[in-house]
Amino acid sequence: MTVASERHTELRHQDADIRARASRVIPGGMYGHMLANEHTLPPSYPQFYDRGEGALTWDVDGNRYIDFMCAFGPMLLGYRNPRVDAAVAAQLAIGDTLTGPSPRMVEFAELLTATIAHADWAMFAKNGTDATSAGVRIARAATGRSKFLKAAVAYHGANDWFTPRAAGVTAEDRANIVEFEYNDVASLEAALTEHAGDVAAIIVTPFRHDSFVAQEAVDPEFARAARRLATAHGAALLLDEVRTGFRLDVSGAWESLGVRPDLTAFSKALANGHPISALVGVDALRAAASEVYVTGSFWYSAVPMAAGIATVTEAVAQDAPRVIRDAGLRFKTGLEAQARAAGMPLELTGPVQMPLMIFADDVHKKRAFAFTDAAIRRGVLLHPWHNMFLSTAHTPEVVDDALARTQDAFDELASLDL
Ligand code: PMP
Repeated sequence: MTVASERHTELRHQDADIRARASRVIPGGMYGHMLANEHTLPPSYPQFYDRGEGALTWDVDGNRYIDFMCAFGPMLLGYRNPRVDAAVAAQLAIGDTLTGPSPRMVEFAELLTATIAHADWAMFAKNGTDATSAGVRIARAATGRSKFLKAAVAYHGANDWFTPRAAGVTAEDRANIVEFEYNDVASLEAALTEHAGDVAAIIVTPFRHDSFVAQEAVDPEFARAARRLATAHGAALLLDEVRTGFRLDVSGAWESLGVRPDLTAFSKALANGHPISALVGVDALRAAASEVYVTGSFWYSAVPMAAGIATVTEAVAQDAPRVIRDAGLRFKTGLEAQARAAGMPLELTGPVQMPLMIFADDVHKKRAFAFTDAAIRRGVLLHPWHNMFLSTAHTPEVVDDALARTQDAFDELASLDL
């Protein structure tokens, strides 16, 4: 497929129509991280999508994209992955949401505890927020303490404690959050000391992946200190792998650092797009985990569990993190070279499997927006301020196709004063 053979309409008739209808029946037209309007994203960004296949996605106007967002992470093995879809179809044929869980639940828990180094047990829910919230609640139940520590700005979900927006949230909802600075051992230690005896958990992501700013690898010393300090203060270490799960290391993101958390939250890539999250934990927290009341009408549905079993099995068999790392390195190397040659230096920050674009001298994101827009019009779906995601479907051919298109995008931008 060459660049010229793809149509990318400047006019988005269907998208515009559906947006207009949405504005009448959906608050704000759209909400949360799926809002794509002129304030949040470049003008060419589609709001509504029709379908996906492998690394490709199509918007409602029929424009095809090589998708570097992967549904904001859930797509790990390609859209409509045949193995995952076969497991889904087989389970759907016999039952999904039943009066009780199916054996798939136990099979999936067995698979996760066999795969994730520190996991002695697993519980399932729907969203990442469910899993991070359950983790905090279990740590509180285990310790009888109230507070939990999180890195400033870090996102762990959209419930009353975590949601980044103030609207509708009370001071009381936030009263038990204590913040530290990511990668700053002294700030973590100070927070623990100040609230000594009342910290139930430290929740932390495997690396710093806040929006808008350069992503930052974890300092191994910080990870080790978090483990040591949590233990010393009797608090649980809760690793939030909702975004990173199964892209960095299938056995746990900090495994290579020799750091094992007490609890880990997963969602997104866990079932290649099917709705499920998991909280896994160590034996020491098993009793507390069985004491708390966490549940939901759809938390036991069998189809997402069948999808999860197929996804994790396939991710382990393929060594998905290594495959995606190779793809990510190819993309990063190619894109950064193009940007340099165009006189618009760019860094793909963070792990190559889930990079965030930072252009030099671009505090107002003008370059990031202009480049993303030009890439979208050429069939490459990027993001100007959130980390992107690659998948095992991003083969070398797919990445090279994307790079041919991004070269064309840089050529367009070369004439502009950004
Ligand atoms: N933690 C992290 C690190 C996340 O990135 C997200 C979602 N972006 C969440 C938690 C919440 O997950 P969900 O949106 O599925 O509730």
